[in-house]
Amino acid sequence: MSQIAIYPGSFDPLTYGHLDIIKRASLIFDTVIVAVANNTPKKVLFTIDDRLAMVKEACGGFTNIQCESFTGLVIRFARQKKARVLIRGLRMISDFEYELQMALTNRRLDENMETVFLMPSEGYSFLSSTLIKEAASLDADMTSFVPPFVAERLKRELEK
Ligand code: ADP
Repeated sequence: MSQIAIYPGSFDPLTYGHLDIIKRASLIFDTVIVAVANNTPKKVLFTIDDRLAMVKEACGGFTNIQCESFTGLVIRFARQKKARVLIRGLRMISDFEYELQMALTNRRLDENMETVFLMPSEGYSFLSSTLIKEAASLDADMTSFVPPFVAERLKRELEK
């Protein structure tokens, strides 16, 4: 049976840390759907269309990765896509408590849904979209954090 995994997130914006997780997942699962959350509780800088466009551009070279946006419960979206696996990235121990809570909540909502945690390369374990937005607003060099086209969009967005 073909295994489909969903990698949900805000991706505001996509970073090399996200990409690292996407690549690892694509080597394990037959299909990975990167799912950009429309109704994230976080305050976002980019619109849903912009966040999805950046994810699509970064994943263009992979044949088993699809990119979509979704609204509402991630488990509902996963079921629609016939996926039983959610991928989440774990950077530090500080991610663990929130991620465990979410994984167990999702499992309570659908006992067939498993969350699989992947660890990024240690070089990306400090990267977060929040920190990157802050650094970009202070005109920091983005080269090692995000792909060049994301850096360009960040610059444009922050100039608005
Ligand atoms: P969310 O709002 O759902 O947390 P994010 O885009 O911030 O959306 O993160 C999506 C997922 O990617 C989360 O599981 C997060 O822990 C993971 N992630 C974010 N940055 C990194 C990184 N640098 N390395 C590994 N995983 C990451």
